[in-house]
Amino acid sequence: YSRLFTEVVPNDRGGMMESALTARDRVGVQDFVLLENYTSEAAFIENLRKRFKENLIYTYISSVLVSVNPYKDLEIYTKNHMERYRGVNFYEVSPHIYATSDNSYRSMRTERRDQCILISGESGAGKTEASKKILQYYAVTCPASDQVQTVKDRLLQSNPVLEAFGNAKTLRNDNSSRFGKYMDIQFDFKGAPVGGHIINYLLEKSRVVHQNHGERNFHIFYQLIEGGEEDLLRRLGLERNPQHYQYLVKGNCPKVSSINDRSDWKQVRKALTVIGFSEDEVEELMNIISSVLHLGNMQYGGDDGGSACITSDTQIKYLSRLLGVSGTVLTEALTHRKIIAKGEELMSPLNIEQASAARDALSKAVYGRTFTWLVNKINGSLAYTDESNKNSSVIGLLDIYGFEVFQYNSFEQFCINYCNEKLQQLFIELTLKSEQEEYEAEGITWEPVQYFNNKIICDLVEEKFKGIISILDEECLRPGDASDITFLEKLEDTVGSHPHFVTHKLADTKTRKLMGREEFRLLHYAGDVNYNVNGEVMCMSENKILTQCFDREELTDKKRPDTVRCVVLSHVSPLPNPTIVVPCAKAEFTKLHVTKILDYSELLHFNCSQVKLCVCVCVFVCALVFRYKSLCPDTWPNWQGKLPEGVSTLVKHLGYKPEEYKMGRSKIFIRFPKTLFATEDALETR
Ligand code: ADP
Ligand code: MG
Repeated sequence: YSRLFTEVVPNDRGGMMESALTARDRVGVQDFVLLENYTSEAAFIENLRKRFKENLIYTYISSVLVSVNPYKDLEIYTKNHMERYRGVNFYEVSPHIYATSDNSYRSMRTERRDQCILISGESGAGKTEASKKILQYYAVTCPASDQVQTVKDRLLQSNPVLEAFGNAKTLRNDNSSRFGKYMDIQFDFKGAPVGGHIINYLLEKSRVVHQNHGERNFHIFYQLIEGGEEDLLRRLGLERNPQHYQYLVKGNCPKVSSINDRSDWKQVRKALTVIGFSEDEVEELMNIISSVLHLGNMQYGGDDGGSACITSDTQIKYLSRLLGVSGTVLTEALTHRKIIAKGEELMSPLNIEQASAARDALSKAVYGRTFTWLVNKINGSLAYTDESNKNSSVIGLLDIYGFEVFQYNSFEQFCINYCNEKLQQLFIELTLKSEQEEYEAEGITWEPVQYFNNKIICDLVEEKFKGIISILDEECLRPGDASDITFLEKLEDTVGSHPHFVTHKLADTKTRKLMGREEFRLLHYAGDVNYNVNGEVMCMSENKILTQCFDREELTDKKRPDTVRCVVLSHVSPLPNPTIVVPCAKAEFTKLHVTKILDYSELLHFNCSQVKLCVCVCVFVCALVFRYKSLCPDTWPNWQGKLPEGVSTLVKHLGYKPEEYKMGRSKIFIRFPKTLFATEDALETR
């Protein structure tokens, strides 16, 4: 609770000492639980706004850190700042991402428990920047040796590489991560970072072949074209002009003022070297990247029977060289599909539309697999192999998309939003559990807090046999007439009566107006989203082509190509890395919630429920007596008796009503922060 008094805020009032009371008026409170009307959304926003005006972008909700993107460089990330937070108690300094980082680090060291920092928030909120700041904090403040320096460099350099291949300019963020990332940083028994591991989720592959107006493809394409050396481009058969490539013109946005593709290329090249990519590997990687661009430029024509044929062989020539596949096989794969009739394999020609879709599917698959390969390669370089040091611990960082709602929401949004439901669920469980444990340890009873438990929505999505994913899976596998529409109908039959599920057919008149016939709507905890079922039950031509092109066993073995997606989902649930699931449930769980100042909807939905969970302020009784003893003649100048009796005497004198507090063994739990405020004010005006 000393957080109230620690914040140092520049004072523009002619150097006059500002009292804690007026400072609070001006800059708000550092912890939302100290707000007088802590459950009011308006008060919540007002507090954020006050602080934001003073360039105070961080605020706590108990141990949760809320951050508001300042969109400008604040001088708060210097080495001096890092030093200020190093080894200092969470509550002794003003809220900061470094405090969260340091707190997790110290808990890991002293309690020998693995930690996890969850970062969530909508696009552009500052999640990725936050994760970089955490990484930098560890790189600078943790002990190091020569070998460790290499690991630190590699950890830091993995970012520009992943961002080049996994980030893109969107309408909301010039450097938007189009994948989710979970990163483990491994520390040895001395607390030095010695290794790392990254898991990537749900890369937005559709971006490879299509971008909305004002958006771009992944950065790497432009970096290569703008920055690649002359002879490299010649070998790849690329022109130095993004406008030349179909996959780069959809968004009509080749240049972005905040991005310098040429210098970024240099940085990425350097980073690849630091991570340990050989020249040959970089060249191979670029072969694949450029083959995607060539694929996009492939032209199809139709013969008399309506079957697609490739009209120019320039692309095929490049592709077969870059990918090392025979031109004939490639041509056939891109214009035909394999069907099995009466036990026999037949090649059936595709029409132009189907062939274009097959081409795009191939491009997405190639890019997606390359991204995964890249992550694996980085993991190889970060791997900690010293078997003699088994006592290592990890801090996990999860940087994942927040809720996403667009005009048109597809399976990608469905997965992202489901993942956020799971995170909320996890958070509720952990917060409630730790609250309960604390009450039990303190030997007090307290009425349960009212909040919305979103488990019901998670069940709707994931329940075996009757959840949405199960039903989709079933329709994907079912031979015969399975289609997007039969999927939707099956959903209506199975979950139609669920209170968080609606379709056009089932909706009331008002909702129906807001929905398409091919959509279902989920009432998420953060809001309602319509999902379009178009193309969900497509039998993936994608992998069949890959099979023909690359003839990889793993692909031919796969009976259900589309389950990839499901694997990703089960990873996300409940925490991505099994190594931290158990310790994390016990560990102090730090959640970092980030959002933009102008769009509160998610923050509010999310954080008001948390404020409600964290309603009481608990104070160590000794701290309470020490701070307020001057307010009661019986405790002044010193309380000679037992502490609990001292507290009872003090709070009775202060006029606390019995329903306003509960005494625990070592702590007093004060129901409403305003009670504590009143006491604080009494101290001020004494
Ligand atoms: P997200 O990952 O949540 O989509 P980013 O972390 O990429 O968002 O942030 C978007 C942009 O906002 C960054 O490129 C940067 O310009 C700005 N930004 C984010 N966090 C900060 C910060 N702490 N200070 C200054 N600018 C920031
Ligand atoms: Mg990001």
